[in-house]
Amino acid sequence: MRENILEAKKIIDTSKYVVAITGAGISVDSGVPTFQGTDGLWTRFGKPSLNSYSDFIKDPDKWWLKEIKYTSSPYINELRKTLELAKPNIGHKILKLMENMDLIKMLITQNIDGLHQDLGTNNLIEIHGNRNKFRCISCNWRKNREEKKITRIPDPCMRCGKIMKFDSVMFGEPIPKDVLKSSRDSIDYADCVLSIGTSSTVRPAAGLFWIAKSQNAKLIEINISPTKLTNYCDVVINGSTSEILPELFEILNN
Ligand SMILES: [Zn+2]
Repeated sequence: MRENILEAKKIIDTSKYVVAITGAGISVDSGVPTFQGTDGLWTRFGKPSLNSYSDFIKDPDKWWLKEIKYTSSPYINELRKTLELAKPNIGHKILKLMENMDLIKMLITQNIDGLHQDLGTNNLIEIHGNRNKFRCISCNWRKNREEKKITRIPDPCMRCGKIMKFDSVMFGEPIPKDVLKSSRDSIDYADCVLSIGTSSTVRPAAGLFWIAKSQNAKLIEINISPTKLTNYCDVVINGSTSEILPELFEILNN
């Protein structure tokens, strides 16, 4: 494994624009449950409605009232509880240090837990949104959520007056165009992409790896188990992100 980490260092040291893409694996040690897998939320509670966005759009007030009264599905209630308690772990911290040292130019996360944001990561794209923010369904204006618990329906958008929803992307909801574009732009610059704690199967993030690959960027995968991307990577480091990232960081500093 050490050899693979040394190989990863060589690539990172010689790359000009490194993009890191993170997934659920990096937040496991912060207590955020994954969706699939043995302990996953969907395994325990069943797959949620795949129409959650159209349910919201049909009657946003009714949707918010359910949220306020905690009568959403048990799966949502469980997710909310764990997100309220989650704190960034060593993996998030190392990525922030790598940003500070200019080793990572852009961090794209598929997680909605806001843990990269909590550390003040500057060059961050939350491709599935952030549950600690609200977003306008029309113009994408975003606002930080001030209260931890939602006690009233959020005010309409300050810019255009339309309805606000959680920034986190729902099933059936298109990825907001602004984050999609900035993700794609950063991948076009990338000569190295780190895949960190992600199964690399959920679009659109999964597609970004293939675009990067087709543009001759090097791919480095850090994940607990092999993925569909594994065979196409230049370096694969198997292990938990909380163990591997500190080791990688130490070697990068040597
Ligand atoms: Zn708006």
